[in-house]
Amino acid sequence: MPPIAKVEPITTARALRGPFDYLRPDGVGIGSVLVVPFGHRDVMGVVVGLAESSEVPDERLAAPRRVLDHDLPPELVDLAAWIGAEYCSTFARALALVSPPARGRAKLTWWATATGADPDGGRPPTDRQRALLGSLPRAAGADLAALRRLEARGLVKLERRATRRHVRHDAVGARRAQAPPLTADQAHVLAEIEARLGESEPPPLLLHGVTGSGKTEVYLRAAAGALAQERGVIVLVPEIALTPQIVSRFVDRFGDTVAVLHSKLSAGERHDEWMRLRSGSARVCVGPRSAVFAPIERLGLIVLDEEHDASYKHEGDPRYDARRVAGRRARQAGALLVAGSATPRPESVHRLRRLRLPARVDGRPLPPVRIVDMRERRGALHPDTSHALVDAPKAIVLLNRRGWSNFVDCRSCGHAWSCPQCDVALVLHRSAGHLACHHCGHRERVPQRCVACGSMSVARHGAGTERLEHELGEIGHEVFRLDADVRDATALLRRFEAAPRGILLGTQMVAKGHDFPDVTLGVVVDADSTLRFPDFRAEERTFALVAQLAGRAGRGPGGGRVLVQTLSPGAASIAAAARHDADGFLAGELGRREALRYPPFSHLIRIVCSAQEGTAVGEAARAVRGGLGDIPAAQVLGPAPLFRLRGRERAQLVIKAARRAAAVHAAGAAVAEVAGDRTRRGVSFSVDVDPQ
Ligand code: ADP
Ligand code: ZN
Ligand code: ZN
Repeated sequence: MPPIAKVEPITTARALRGPFDYLRPDGVGIGSVLVVPFGHRDVMGVVVGLAESSEVPDERLAAPRRVLDHDLPPELVDLAAWIGAEYCSTFARALALVSPPARGRAKLTWWATATGADPDGGRPPTDRQRALLGSLPRAAGADLAALRRLEARGLVKLERRATRRHVRHDAVGARRAQAPPLTADQAHVLAEIEARLGESEPPPLLLHGVTGSGKTEVYLRAAAGALAQERGVIVLVPEIALTPQIVSRFVDRFGDTVAVLHSKLSAGERHDEWMRLRSGSARVCVGPRSAVFAPIERLGLIVLDEEHDASYKHEGDPRYDARRVAGRRARQAGALLVAGSATPRPESVHRLRRLRLPARVDGRPLPPVRIVDMRERRGALHPDTSHALVDAPKAIVLLNRRGWSNFVDCRSCGHAWSCPQCDVALVLHRSAGHLACHHCGHRERVPQRCVACGSMSVARHGAGTERLEHELGEIGHEVFRLDADVRDATALLRRFEAAPRGILLGTQMVAKGHDFPDVTLGVVVDADSTLRFPDFRAEERTFALVAQLAGRAGRGPGGGRVLVQTLSPGAASIAAAARHDADGFLAGELGRREALRYPPFSHLIRIVCSAQEGTAVGEAARAVRGGLGDIPAAQVLGPAPLFRLRGRERAQLVIKAARRAAAVHAAGAAVAEVAGDRTRRGVSFSVDVDPQ
């Protein structure tokens, strides 16, 4: 083996570009994780290459201090190299993403074994003691005291052992370990998936199936197929707290071979789950976007559930998109990628081969959707909506706005309360007693009088989930509010599920993949809220939100219906969702995107410059613009000012390019050049490839 290990230290410093050479200890290869001396300190690093010789003189070549026992599969090192380049970040930062979670403290439990010694001269063991002895060896539990008495008599040996922290997977929804017989549509789709699983370079597939069409059952069968070929499986889901059902269905079906990685686990639990995957004792990983880095070798299948979900995009550097990374990883491993959704993205429809599940498993039609025109109305709810809510025992109400009211101003002088750090209005949270900025977290007390004119008359405008909760409560409904202000979403969903009556009210969180058969009414309170964003994805988001909410209603024998309140009853996305017309919407949207040259007909890269002070930002943004020069087949928009955020002025540039690699490269180089200029110390830059 070559004597030199090329090590990339895991640091966040952008200026530091490794890898650096060290002496290679025995047994160390690509993917090994080491602690190496680095400057005046020790840092963790990953071996990313091996070499026969080094340019560093022998006497300055250092040996690593330690080799850690959790090495990375070499393909994750490759994947990290790709992510670093693809998202204009660094190799080191990408390696941090794919590295194992910190070990945490080991959990120690008492372990009891029989010594095999004969009972001493005293009393013979009682029946209960005999039963205890017969159950060994095992971990001591509630009977530790009884085991201690046996230990005192020399019959049992007790010792502390580190055990795997057992991760409990909460179950929501009906349990069914037994696989149901497939419907004809499911069988058809599965046959195609299984045929692809046998190919060496299978093309990625899109499973487009209406809500309740049994996509999860198809994923389960596909996973079983991959496992039967002795290959591993990754299942990506949007957010575990909101979609515990799919996790329990995998655990019920496959048991201990499923590892779950999610943010609610302690560091130690995550580490243990990671090690189970690394050692091969678990072969299926279910988790949110970061699970795309699960250390599974011989990967056969990646499932991307609810592929339209925005949570697949990571908002820190590297700003990776787990959907694209999953595609890359699948290609690298020769694995099959199956992305599924009832409301797939236009990008996916355009790029992937599509399989369809056109009907619900139970054969019931999707619920009728009525558009409720709110243009002539005051108040949050139309009278028809209120009546429908009175009649329906269980309902889901979507209002995509947290808090009590969305802004507060003075009736006398018009002064509006806004965030001192960001140029946005503060939102009133009445029960918490404060005004809050939803961008930076700034809070202040609810004003008693106007800071500008002293008037006592402060007006609240608009309604958020908190206020609607109050109004619905007044009519006598039990309301279960689900939004980012709620701490334990899973517990709340479980309470709603168990309740005989009630309203699940919340932000877009209520439209995720829940399956509550007794919900007969779905209401979207302000369907335009997503349309008002000046973003080319506004239509797509609105369609998905309305269609997904519609999919939550009428799943049981009681049937159901959906009301969509809107100020733009003519909007194409809302009308298409009301007709359950995904194909019509997608065709129109793809046509519009092609005409305007938006993704998937181009690639977008967004560069944001920010600093305390406005002129520095403008200058830096213009310098980046200059540095971009002429990118072939691309258009550069901006620099344009953005609203101030967290006390920083901002400006952005958007590159719209036909050829991705050239544009990514140009963006990275231009930013590196301007950021390297010492006179621009106070300016930060972020590059977002495929911004959401
Ligand atoms: P989707 O993920 O497409 O929304 P699910 O997979 O959650 O749909 O399926 C909806 C319901 O139908 C679930 O309760 C599931 O257990 C049930 N189901 C799925 N496939 C079948 C089948 N072949 N026979 C009977 N029930 C099924
Ligand atoms: Zn005033
Ligand atoms: Zn703020």
